[in-house]
Amino acid sequence: MKPNYFEKILIANRGEIAVRVIRACRELGIGSVAIFSEADREALHVRLADEAYFVGPSPSSQSYLNEENILLAAKKTGAEAIHPGYGFLSENTNFAQRVAEEGLVFIGPSTESIRLMGDKTASRKCMAQAGVTIVPGTNEELEPSALEKIAGELGYPVLLKAAAGGGGKGMRIVFAENEIQTAYQTAKSEAKSAFGDDRIFLEKYVENPRHIEFQILGDQHGNIVHLYERECSIQRRHQKVIEEAPSSVLDENLRKKMGEAAIAAARACGYYNAGTVEFIFDKSRNFYFLEMNTRLQVEHPVTEMVTGIDLVSEQIKIAAGEKLSFSQADIQLRGHAIESRIYAEDPENNFMPSTGKINYLREPAGPSVRNDSGFESGSDISIYYDPLISKLSVWGKNRIEAIQRMKRALYEYRIAGVSTSIPFCRFVMEHPKFVSGNFDTHFVPDELKKTAVVKFQKTDSEEAQVAMIAAVLYHNEKRKEQTALKPTQSDAVANQWKLLARKRQNR
Ligand code: ADP
Ligand code: ADP
Ligand code: MG
Repeated sequence: MKPNYFEKILIANRGEIAVRVIRACRELGIGSVAIFSEADREALHVRLADEAYFVGPSPSSQSYLNEENILLAAKKTGAEAIHPGYGFLSENTNFAQRVAEEGLVFIGPSTESIRLMGDKTASRKCMAQAGVTIVPGTNEELEPSALEKIAGELGYPVLLKAAAGGGGKGMRIVFAENEIQTAYQTAKSEAKSAFGDDRIFLEKYVENPRHIEFQILGDQHGNIVHLYERECSIQRRHQKVIEEAPSSVLDENLRKKMGEAAIAAARACGYYNAGTVEFIFDKSRNFYFLEMNTRLQVEHPVTEMVTGIDLVSEQIKIAAGEKLSFSQADIQLRGHAIESRIYAEDPENNFMPSTGKINYLREPAGPSVRNDSGFESGSDISIYYDPLISKLSVWGKNRIEAIQRMKRALYEYRIAGVSTSIPFCRFVMEHPKFVSGNFDTHFVPDELKKTAVVKFQKTDSEEAQVAMIAAVLYHNEKRKEQTALKPTQSDAVANQWKLLARKRQNR
C-alpha cells in the first residue's frame, strides 16, 4: 500500500539535484513536476519528471529564482509541496514563507531556522548561547573604526566574512594591520553585490584547518539524529571539490563529541528536516562551529553510501509530518565513500568554467559506483548556471578501496566537448598526501603552486579521438532522429567503435 505522503511535488531546481529529487519521488510513488528555463527546454530533469513547466528566460533571476512563476506552476499542476534542492531558492526565507502562505509545504526547515542560520552573526550568537564552541571573533556587524582594535586582540591572521555569506563568497584573509581597511572595503562591496547585504564580521583565521561537517535529520516531533561526518577539506576558492565520509582524522571519542555538538546546534534553532552543521577543525584537534546549511547538501551522497539512508526520501517524509523511523543507535557507519564533483571547468586555467555542448559522454559504472548527473550526450553546459556536470561517488570497504575504485571510475569517465575537472580529480586521488589522509583546506592551492606550469594528465589522445568520432556520428544521428524518431541508428555509432577498437588491437 502506498503511504500517504504527497500526491505530487514540484522541484524548484535544475541539473543533477532536480534529477535526484525526481528519482526519490518516483520511488515513493509521488508525482514529480519539473520547472525549466529557455536554456533547459531539453534538459534531462525535464524529460525525467512526470510533468514539466516553463518558468521563464534563461537567466536564473527570471526562471529558477522567479518565485511568482514557480508558485504559479505549483498551483497549475496541483503540486502539494516544493523541494528547493540546493542553491537557488533553497535558503530564501521569503520564498519559504510564500510557499507556506499559498498553502503548500516547503520541503526544508522552518522559515525561522532558515532566517537564523542564514545570518552568520545571528547564528554565532545562538550557538554561543547553546554552549557550542564558535570560532573566536565578533558576533555583530563591524564598524571600520573598530577593525584594528578587534583584529589586534584576536591576533593576525584574521578573516573578514559576510554575515549573509555563502558559496565561499565575501571572505578576505588579513595578515597584517596595514591591509585591514582595504580588505574590509573589498569584502563589503563583494558582499553587497553577491548577497545585497554588506554586513561584515571578523573571525580568527584558523591556520591549516580541516572542514568537517555533520549531517543532521530532525522530524517535526522533536527528534534529531546525526548521520556522522563528511570530510570536505579538498577545496578550491573555499568551495568543496572532493568530499568523503568518514573523516580519517576523527576517533570514536571525538566523533561522538562533534555529533553531540551538531545535535545541540540543531536543537538550539528548533531545527527539522535535513541540515548540515559545519565545523572547522584545527591542528590541535579543537573544533569550532562554522555555520549551518539549512538544506540538502551537494555532497549528501557520501553520507547515503556509508549509512544506507536515503536523505531525500527522509526529507519528504519529514515534510509530510512523519516521525523519524530510526534512532541514533540505529545509524551505523559502514565502509568509506568518496565523491568527486565533476565540473565543466578547466583545471589548467584556474578552474574557469568551460561551457558548450557535451558531444559525447560515457558514465562509469560497476559495483558501488554512483553518478548523480544532470546531463547526457548532446546536453548543453550553459553559461547561465553553475557548471556542475555530475557528482561521481564510490563506496569501498575502507578508504584505500574507495580511492582505488574512484581512480578506476575516473579513468572510465569520458566527456568530450567541454573541459572537465576529471583530470584534476585523478591528480588528487593519486596524490600521496591525499592518500595519506594528512591534508588540510590548503591542499589544492598549495599543491598547484608547486607545479610551475599546471598540466594534468589527460585521457590518452587515442581514446579522445574515438570519442570525438563517436560524437560526430551521434550528432548526425540526433539530427536525423529529429525528423524520424527511430532509435535504430545507434548501430552506426556502435559499429564505428568496434572498427576502431579492432584497429587498435591489431597494432
Ligand atoms: P555545499 O555546502 O552543499 O557543498 P556549496 O557551497 O558548494 O554547497 O554551494 C552549493 C550550491 O549553492 C552551489 O551551486 C553554490 O553556487 C550555491 N550557493 C551556495 N550558497 C549560495 C548563496 N548564498 N547564494 C547563491 N548561491 C549559493
Ligand atoms: P560559506 O557560507 O561560503 O560556505 P563558510 O563559513 O562555511 O562559508 O566557509 C567556507 C570555507 O572557508 C570553509 O570550509 C573553510 O575552508 C574556510 N573558512 C571559513 N572560515 C574560516 C576560518 N575562520 N578560518 C579558516 N578558514 C575558514
Ligand atoms: Mg559553508
